[in-house]
Amino acid sequence: MTVWDDLVGQERVSEQLAAAARDADAFVTAAASDVPPPEASRMTHAWLFTGPPGAGRNQAARAFAAALQCVSPDRALGGAPGCGFCDGCHTALVGTHADVSTVAAVGSQILVEAMRDTVRKSFTAPANGRWQVILVEDAERLNEKSANAVLKAVEEPAPRTVWLLCAPSVEDVLPTIRSRCRHLVLSTPSVEAVADMLVRREGIEPDVAAAVARATQGHVDRARRLATDPAARARRAAVLKLPLRVEDVGGALRAAQELVDAAAEDAKQLAEERDGKETEDLKAALGAAQGGRLPRGTAGAVKDLEEMQKRRRTRTQRDSLDVALADLTSFYRDVLALQLGSRIALANTDAEDALERLARSSTPESTLRRIEAIAACGEALDRNVAPLLAVEAMTMALRAG
Ligand SMILES: [Zn+2]
Repeated sequence: MTVWDDLVGQERVSEQLAAAARDADAFVTAAASDVPPPEASRMTHAWLFTGPPGAGRNQAARAFAAALQCVSPDRALGGAPGCGFCDGCHTALVGTHADVSTVAAVGSQILVEAMRDTVRKSFTAPANGRWQVILVEDAERLNEKSANAVLKAVEEPAPRTVWLLCAPSVEDVLPTIRSRCRHLVLSTPSVEAVADMLVRREGIEPDVAAAVARATQGHVDRARRLATDPAARARRAAVLKLPLRVEDVGGALRAAQELVDAAAEDAKQLAEERDGKETEDLKAALGAAQGGRLPRGTAGAVKDLEEMQKRRRTRTQRDSLDVALADLTSFYRDVLALQLGSRIALANTDAEDALERLARSSTPESTLRRIEAIAACGEALDRNVAPLLAVEAMTMALRAG
């Protein structure tokens, strides 16, 4: 198992990254032994990963970060960096490597304040002497100030600094930034590739894997979550019942409240799973005995972590709402396909009765209008409209008639 195994259906991108990681490794090895470095042509200091949501652009960037930090002794024997097991790979993958910094949006923007330390770090040498990796998730959310800070940093990079920017499309990033990046395009993995991954990696029954892959339409994370987490399956089932429930104003408002509550509950659950362990790990790293006192001067690091966890919780709640919106959109697309007599395979075969009922009782025009209302809800959430307000406006528009 290597760091590339989690990239589903992205063989071409994996090959390019593996080649770059090999050259990067040769560069570091040569520098350490005072030999003039080889021409590391497949390695460069700024990369842009684009692709549709769920294709795995963040995972691709993280896998590359891990390969750059790989310290497996097999590398000297001709093995490729990115073993997936060594300390470098492992800590980079789980997000605790000292020379891998991650920047992600808080709400709708990446603020320059949130980037300041990272940008400063990008001008310094890596602590372990390999690479200083800066991974920017949601680079499309850089605002004017933070984009300028990134631009300055990629214009004059430190010799061992690598910027990995992730965005849905190349148009989402300033031309001045993207012209300095090597561009990698991830495509939507096929339903078959996702189903295959679920069977191989997660041990899911083939027919369940196929249904889940079809329902999530090439979104790898959502497919994995749906296949392995009964709570996620229950939430999806509830979401798919919504179109038949929103018959009157009362039903629409209740449905909205339930959607928002479910997202909050989801965020709470995920936070409970991750936060405690993360805090314990950090305290252990800082030198505290289990449950014991922290050494002097380290309380700030714990506080920073707790603030990050709080921001992440808000973000997770939003992500969870996005999943519900995606499920609803997919549902109405199936309705439209039935109404238009299209022969494409339905995504939500497990809700076929509801699909058919709605297809019969409404028109293609009203279905299109509903799909637009869901998109409008996503845009309102992007503008930081209060979730309940945005979702209520949507469920009101989904009502029959
Ligand atoms: Zn490794």
